[in-house]
Amino acid sequence: MKESGWQLEHSYADLPDVFYKETKPETAEFPEIVLFNWNLAKSLGLDPRNLQLESSEVFSGNRIPDGGLPIAQAYAGHQFGNFTMLGDGRAILLGEQVAPDGRRVDIQLKGAGRTVFSRMGDGRSPLGPMLREYIISEAMHALNIPSTRALALVTTGEAVSRERMLPGAVLTRVAASHLRVGTFEYAARLEDKSHIRTLADYAIERHYPEIEGENKYLQFFNAVIDRQAALISRWQLVGFIHGVMNTDNMTISGETIDYGPCAFMDAYDPETAFSSIDVNKRYRYRNQPGIAQWNLARLAETLLPLIHDDKEEAVGIAQASLGDFGKQYNMYWQSGMREKIGLVDAEEADDSLADELLDLMHQYKADFTKTFRMLSLDALEDMPLYAVEAFKDWYERWQKRLESQSISVEAAYERMRSVNPAVIPRNHLVEEALDSAVEKGDFSKASKLIEVLSNPYDDGHDKMFKEPPEDEERVHMTFCGT
Ligand code: AMP
Ligand code: MG
Repeated sequence: MKESGWQLEHSYADLPDVFYKETKPETAEFPEIVLFNWNLAKSLGLDPRNLQLESSEVFSGNRIPDGGLPIAQAYAGHQFGNFTMLGDGRAILLGEQVAPDGRRVDIQLKGAGRTVFSRMGDGRSPLGPMLREYIISEAMHALNIPSTRALALVTTGEAVSRERMLPGAVLTRVAASHLRVGTFEYAARLEDKSHIRTLADYAIERHYPEIEGENKYLQFFNAVIDRQAALISRWQLVGFIHGVMNTDNMTISGETIDYGPCAFMDAYDPETAFSSIDVNKRYRYRNQPGIAQWNLARLAETLLPLIHDDKEEAVGIAQASLGDFGKQYNMYWQSGMREKIGLVDAEEADDSLADELLDLMHQYKADFTKTFRMLSLDALEDMPLYAVEAFKDWYERWQKRLESQSISVEAAYERMRSVNPAVIPRNHLVEEALDSAVEKGDFSKASKLIEVLSNPYDDGHDKMFKEPPEDEERVHMTFCGT
């Protein structure tokens, strides 16, 4: 139905057929739409009023929208350091919606049933993890962090068997694309050596069309490095811990993808990890930049034959690029950190000023988000940190530094308030919303939380959304639950 606004194309399905498998979603018995992202729908050219009539059918996978071609994508990946062949085991790509502004985005149904890549899995997803992805991916977007988006959430009316029976759900995910480092790892292992070049050309055209001229593939690699360095710095600057930074969960576009056991840290501690399956804390907060670089090395390995005919030359070139990841990451992190503490003109001592603050926050277990917000409001009196002598000393030096700038102290505070959120998807709030939806079928808490998080730099929200958890509310571990 054209009136709904679907403009689906399939550039990915034009790739050689080793890259995907046509697949039909399994039908859902009693699909019910429980969340719908009106603003996102509009920006994609979808007409929400007409869509509504068909929404639960389309967003459950029961009915393929006009022009849709359901496929499962093939990919591989290093999971916790070990290589595995994977693929969409519980996700089905309907096509690429071409928005009125020309933007092309993947429309994917997550939890819509088995595919040839499902291995032992059932292709389904319980409601909890899909709602979690909806809430956190939308919160990330509102924080100006590149991320896949959530368009719709449908409950299937069917139970999914996990440690117990749970309500099933399908999430409609919108992404710049689902090309992953793992897609390249897959292509590189195919017998036909032309596939890696085909895939790289496709990725360049889709995500880096500005690349032209010599050393196209090296430029491509450098561009991915840059986007990932920027992305990971944004995670670090808000205390986001992804939890499963496997190479199949790292995009070529530079968007955050696959919200499993991810979480925002409360008290600042670089060793923080939440995921129950990350037993060695491989993906702890502090490790995220290093892991990103490790993942990019896996991408580099797949591109070597395209970078230079001579393998050793190629390795040297790729290593030099990879070495720049750290420099770029630090540049993004440092400029982000300066913004967080209101410094506009860079000075040599700024980095140590920021580091000292973080050290104090660590030592006194200060809440990451609230500390920066309270600094931005110059309203620290209620925070325990304010009573600490060493902090007072830091604060005085910081004030002097603010006063010495080319902009007024008030203007510096205002800038700080535009980068230090007042609200984040705190784990205890997310868990509470999930619990209410899963156990009682009540989505009011989730809806309210989504609304609050869409406006993260506003102080007007109810206190319960801004405050760190009480000790007994604190979440120490998160689960994939897939
Ligand atoms: P993820 O944890 O979402 O990154 O998924 C890792 C791999 O496991 C991907 O290949 C998924 O498609 C697959 N997978 C996860 N859950 C299921 C499921 N319920 N059924 C089939 N495959 C799954
Ligand atoms: Mg994944």
